[in-house]
Amino acid sequence: MNSRSSTAIRQALQKAERLLIVTHIRPDGDAIGSLLGLGLALKAAGKSVLMALDDQVPTQFRHLEGSELINRSFQRDYDLAISLDCSDKSRLGQFGRDNLEWDINIDHHITNDGYAKINLIDTEAVATAEIIATNIEDWGFQISKPVADALLMGILTDTIGFRTYNMRSDVLRLAARLMDLGANLPELYARNVYQKSFEAVKMWGSGLSRLQRKDGLVWTMITNEDRSEAGYPGKDDADMINLLTAIEDAKISVVFIEQPNGKVKVSWRAVAGVDVSQVAAEFGGGGHPAAAGAELTGKIEELYKIVLEKTYLHLRRGQ
Ligand code: AMP
Ligand code: MN
Ligand code: MN
Repeated sequence: MNSRSSTAIRQALQKAERLLIVTHIRPDGDAIGSLLGLGLALKAAGKSVLMALDDQVPTQFRHLEGSELINRSFQRDYDLAISLDCSDKSRLGQFGRDNLEWDINIDHHITNDGYAKINLIDTEAVATAEIIATNIEDWGFQISKPVADALLMGILTDTIGFRTYNMRSDVLRLAARLMDLGANLPELYARNVYQKSFEAVKMWGSGLSRLQRKDGLVWTMITNEDRSEAGYPGKDDADMINLLTAIEDAKISVVFIEQPNGKVKVSWRAVAGVDVSQVAAEFGGGGHPAAAGAELTGKIEELYKIVLEKTYLHLRRGQ
């Protein structure tokens, strides 16, 4: 952990009165948990805080206190701009485009390009929410129950319920402390790790029916038609990629998700010792060694072959 950045963040947070806090588009649990955890803690200390995001808050996160305060638009009357869980400005949507300057960037992605004045990037952290939970009291703010719930949710979702290869015993101690401060582990686990809507599981069925394997690589795709047939409202894979990681001899799993706007979202997952963030970066995406993503433009039937070929080469080179 970079203690100089952490000290600079404490000074900046103490001094600021009006803060803009933003996270990445297509937000996952860590994005929302980090945004709410930091945002609510600063609000409780009397700061004026605008929590924002260029996307809808996914329904599964709306049970969290404060989620209704997250905005899609903003005014420029803030004195500190913070970006959370976002490796580069392009993933901030409109917030990345409007020539906005970022004062603070807190993240755990290995592909983070350090676009803010103060960058606190800890690639060993399992979640951005872990970095916030570890530091927030040193920065002078309290962890209330809603803050503890938000931060534990971020940690739980990025570790898929404490089971990713980057898990450390410290994370369990931190989670225990968040529970002591009021976080409801079983409820968060149910709502945000394993429960899925009927439509999501029906859509998995389409994806699973097309499952393919070649040596250590398994993959499938979800089309726009699958989504409408199942009545699934989101643009994502409903975490189907995590199902593929259950296949015992898969070294890399890939899901291609056709998007209504002519793009294709690709998600990669890898076992320990294989780094898929490099392949994702080759396609303009990014992420972590074990979990990475990218968004490509083109037809899914053509793109998937190119992506699989590169992924396969990468797997062979790494062995
Ligand atoms: P996903 O497959 O969407 O769950 O993403 C896995 C990881 O890769 C997450 O940590 C994301 O932050 C990162 N990621 C996903 N999509 C992109 C992208 N287009 N650009 C950069 N990083 C991404
Ligand atoms: Mn994220
Ligand atoms: Mn994260």
